[in-house]
Amino acid sequence: MTDTLSDHEFLRYGRQILLPEIGETGQLKLKQSKVLIVGLGGLGSPASLYLAAAGVGELWLADGDTVDSSNLQRQVLYRTADRHQPKTKAACAHLTALNPSIKYQSLPAVDEALLVEIVPQVDVVLDCSDNMLTRQRVNAACMRAQKPLITAAATGWEGQLLLIEPAQQTACYHCLFPLNEETGLSCREAGIVGPVVGMLGTAQALLTMQLLCDLPRPTGILQRFDGRTLQWQRLNTQADPTCPACHSSASSSVLLEFPTCKSA
Ligand SMILES: [Zn+2]
Repeated sequence: MTDTLSDHEFLRYGRQILLPEIGETGQLKLKQSKVLIVGLGGLGSPASLYLAAAGVGELWLADGDTVDSSNLQRQVLYRTADRHQPKTKAACAHLTALNPSIKYQSLPAVDEALLVEIVPQVDVVLDCSDNMLTRQRVNAACMRAQKPLITAAATGWEGQLLLIEPAQQTACYHCLFPLNEETGLSCREAGIVGPVVGMLGTAQALLTMQLLCDLPRPTGILQRFDGRTLQWQRLNTQADPTCPACHSSASSSVLLEFPTCKSA
């Protein structure tokens, strides 16, 4: 069933199947893929919408929050009537309305045990969370399971984005942002411009399609976006040979070493 495309699918996804880089082969790869999205806020909203629209086979959606009126300024997946609903419930309803042929799986807020269980079962993980603790946990789980990770963050007018592929031994999130830096600061609620976080979430969806279709892609390049000038800055990264998250000898202990973190 999943090794061919139906006439309906050829019509529905025709505009991207037309692209020689995607074609029928790429569309089938998307259809056969499972993607985990951790966090259904300002990043996860556009990421999930574009990946559902593109015909990814399964979207696993993890978030423990409910929709608040202050979310609606940037979390474009939700409507005013969704306030007080669990985000996963509202997200599944809207994404199913967009593309009912995709399988959606709702998951609660991820902890270490849940990540260890689910990350090995998916093809790629999108970290769309809003705090350093979760980013580090998701990174550690992806390095353990050797799964690609597309991590992004945004505050104010700026955002950053990184595609990590353990198989290529590129720098992981922990290599670049060790735990003892910024943890308290990153947990605090900061102001954010909606379209800036939307740009980053959309870029995560684009990188996901490139990865799943096995296209050339900017793996291991930290990309910073400045919403004031609309400029992207590209920074080469290098893995830290002493990093406990991506160097297997110490990776089992890193999961236990995170400081507690008060979310705003
Ligand atoms: Zn590392």
